[in-house]
Amino acid sequence: MKKAVILGEQRATTVDVPDPQPKEDWALVKVHSVPMCTEYKAFLAGQKSEFLGHEAAGEVVAVAQPGRVQVGDRVVVMPFYPCGKCPLCVSGDYIHCEAAYDFDTFAGSPEGKATYAQYLLKPSWLLPKIPDGVSYDLGSLAVCGLGPSFGAFDLMGVDAFDTVLVTGAGAVGLGAVINAKYRGATVIVAESVPYRVERARLLGADYVVDPTSTDALEQIRSVTGGIGVDASLDCAGVVAAERLCIDATRRKGQVAFVGECNNDLAIRVSPDMIRKGLTIRGSWHYNLSLFPKIMQVIQHYPTIEKLISHVFPLTQVQQALELSASHECAKIILKPWA
Ligand SMILES: [Zn+2]
Ligand SMILES: [Zn+2]
Repeated sequence: MKKAVILGEQRATTVDVPDPQPKEDWALVKVHSVPMCTEYKAFLAGQKSEFLGHEAAGEVVAVAQPGRVQVGDRVVVMPFYPCGKCPLCVSGDYIHCEAAYDFDTFAGSPEGKATYAQYLLKPSWLLPKIPDGVSYDLGSLAVCGLGPSFGAFDLMGVDAFDTVLVTGAGAVGLGAVINAKYRGATVIVAESVPYRVERARLLGADYVVDPTSTDALEQIRSVTGGIGVDASLDCAGVVAAERLCIDATRRKGQVAFVGECNNDLAIRVSPDMIRKGLTIRGSWHYNLSLFPKIMQVIQHYPTIEKLISHVFPLTQVQQALELSASHECAKIILKPWA
């Protein structure tokens, strides 16, 4: 099969490797749609990488034993290789599993764990079915495009009474606009890249604020009559945006962080949390039981296809990674068989 690799020095290409073989309850999936995520960071850093990607949708083409999926099933490929047995996995919060498979040991080969490839292997319980009439490309948005914000808004109970702040309008933040609007909320987006500002408006954002302007906080407050938003979601993964979420949220409001960030955020417990009565939480993905609801968003959101800005054949992974690194894009999809 073909798969994509980063050679280092901001060069990427496709190479031929052996096809993976299914085993036990793991299925072989022919990959039809590969949403790009954070892989551009390794590309920009010049890091060699042989196994790229964690998002996909495709068709089950082989199973080693009868199980939850059958050959011909159209499926979303959920990320990682969680154990499937621990309390977190059993409850559907598999994303937090601490006993994940060692893929190479289990499969007997490292091939089949990358999504930037024509085939991959996955435990069958992590292959929920795509409803009839939903394309592979749109189905694949049920991973990082719509997933993190769906999980966070579900935890925060966001609804039509709420005004929500979304900081950062990359693919995850744009997915958050869709999820918040689907729930009926009023949506304020904080974003400065013009391409993403326009895309946020296309997808239904009610207000867009430039977070680099000195009065960004006042602008957000003025939308809410000076009170502050009911809920904030950071999708930017930078400390300034996390701080804006805390400061822009009203008393007794809620803040969730889904943007990955390894830098320190200073929280002053009394003014930020105790006196405000603020709830601040981290959220990564969504409980697997919510999958049918995400499919409803995909089926019913009128401009859902605008979350995808570009589609490339996998053979053009170099151009696709360059575009992804430029931020002049929403979700980019790679097609391994084009
Ligand atoms: Zn587990
Ligand atoms: Zn992702």
